Amino acid sequence: SAQKETLGFQTEVKQLLHLMIHSLYSNKEIFLRELISNASDAADKLRFEGLAKPELFENDAELKITVSFDKEARTITISDNGIGMSRDEVIANIGTIAKSGTKAFFEQLSGDSKKDANLIGQFGVGFYSAFIVADKVSLTTRRAGSNTAEGIRWESQGEGEYTLEQVEKAGRGTDIVLHLKEGEDELLADWALKRIVRTYSDHISIPILMKKGSSYGENGEVIESDELEAVNAASALWTRSKSEISDEQYTEFYKHVAHDFTDPLAWSHARVEGRQEYTELLYIPARAPFDMWDRERKQGIKLYVRRVFIMEDSDKLMPQYLRFVRGVIDSNDLPLNVSREILQESKDIDAIRAGCVKKVLGLLEDLAANQTEKYAAFWKEFGQVLKEGVGEDHANKERIAKLLRFASTAVDGDEPTVSLSDYIGRMKEGQDKIYFITADTLAAARNSPHLEVFKKKGVEVLLLTDRVDEWVVGSLFEFDGKSLQSVAKGALDLGALEDEADKEAQKQAEEAAKPLVEKVQSALGDKVKEVRATVRLTDSPACLVAGEHDMSAHLERMLKAAGQ
Ligand code: ADP
Ligand code: MG
Repeated sequence: SAQKETLGFQTEVKQLLHLMIHSLYSNKEIFLRELISNASDAADKLRFEGLAKPELFENDAELKITVSFDKEARTITISDNGIGMSRDEVIANIGTIAKSGTKAFFEQLSGDSKKDANLIGQFGVGFYSAFIVADKVSLTTRRAGSNTAEGIRWESQGEGEYTLEQVEKAGRGTDIVLHLKEGEDELLADWALKRIVRTYSDHISIPILMKKGSSYGENGEVIESDELEAVNAASALWTRSKSEISDEQYTEFYKHVAHDFTDPLAWSHARVEGRQEYTELLYIPARAPFDMWDRERKQGIKLYVRRVFIMEDSDKLMPQYLRFVRGVIDSNDLPLNVSREILQESKDIDAIRAGCVKKVLGLLEDLAANQTEKYAAFWKEFGQVLKEGVGEDHANKERIAKLLRFASTAVDGDEPTVSLSDYIGRMKEGQDKIYFITADTLAAARNSPHLEVFKKKGVEVLLLTDRVDEWVVGSLFEFDGKSLQSVAKGALDLGALEDEADKEAQKQAEEAAKPLVEKVQSALGDKVKEVRATVRLTDSPACLVAGEHDMSAHLERMLKAAGQ
């Protein structure tokens, strides 16, 4: 039907719009970056679908984005000849938020606009940022390959609802017209828009065209030209040489590929030659995304083959424990028709992935060694995820273990700053084990009676309080030739740390406590394996100890809580 119909936004969209407009106003220029980023994604999608169906190009294979403005009408128009959208896609993509992590996002909102601006940034601003500067947005789109009568116009004033109508659209792709709010006229200037495009979107790989505008002729006369020129460098950023790319360009490219609003923490950019030839540009974000713990999570690494976008989100390109990494891998060797199924089997992909994992670990090692503060920030956001790697990635276990950081009895404060190497460097004469304790909280760990004897002897104990720590110590066993030992397990053998006096004391304690031990043993019966006198306690009268090969009490509690 050609009739205009009115539909309501999902409640979340309304909330998001309101927040966006109020908390991102000081960053209003980003609307253009977001719309250009979407146009570029749409071009990528068309190029990919066009591999199998060249007819989608409709005899117009020059992918491009055009930005123009109309001073009289007070509008800015962003057009692309990318994949476009069908009616259903418009409803699904523009009228609803289908993202995972949406619920968590809305729960965290505080009403404090500064904090919320940060959260929105983390969540991704996207298309709705148009409403920061516009009080009406009109999007006209037609999916590549569809009939010219099947264009769809979506219009909204950014409040509760939007309208949809079917329209005629000659070219495929999407035109977005922003009707500017009162007071935004400064955007209606050639130089202003060009400056914004160059600042935020120079890295876009297809041309962003604008009118040449006014220039001076030979005799100083002003020449107005309607001819279009590319405002950006229009080559894929990762194909340029490092020396030609500024930090700002790397940063803006990150925001585009990661759909993130915050600057990245670090990146690695390299062209790799050898059996597999590829370019990688990989980023460590500064902030964890909302969906880091969500199994349905979509984004990850974008795979390109010779500059053609193939797919995103492949688990095959990065292991789970590095799922926070974002960026691009561009292969020279893979076939263009590579599918998910082929990826699953591909030895070539395995080689690329192994190479990229090494790059990321190298990047982290570099941060840990040379930019301690950045590394601490990384650890805070992603340490728990990286820890999974100890059990997951056999080949790189040692390297990952070196990157781990823990709280410890040797340092004050709650920040996990102690590496296993730090620990070994501080070991006591005669100490041959790395001692640790696992607990739910740092307070519980620090107050554990198991620590008493270590305090007395001045031996450091690592305090492990993340859920994943049980998994870490269950897979690591040893580091640098020193075994990891729980202080809460077995008949604590302090080895050479024990002196003659200790042994004597133990003997005397056993003697003295014999009648008590027997009484306790018979009272507890089958509930315990053994009751022992000990000198490991200095202040507490008694403590529970797990058998050498038993589950730790902490793990047992965790499993119980998880219903196992
Ligand atoms: P994101 O880009 O992070 O997915 P956006 O809010 O920017 O989120 O865009 C939402 C969705 O709308 C996109 O994922 C895409 O499917 C669709 N979309 C937006 N702009 C375009 C466009 N110019 N061409 C085709 N699809 C678009
Ligand atoms: Mg987007």
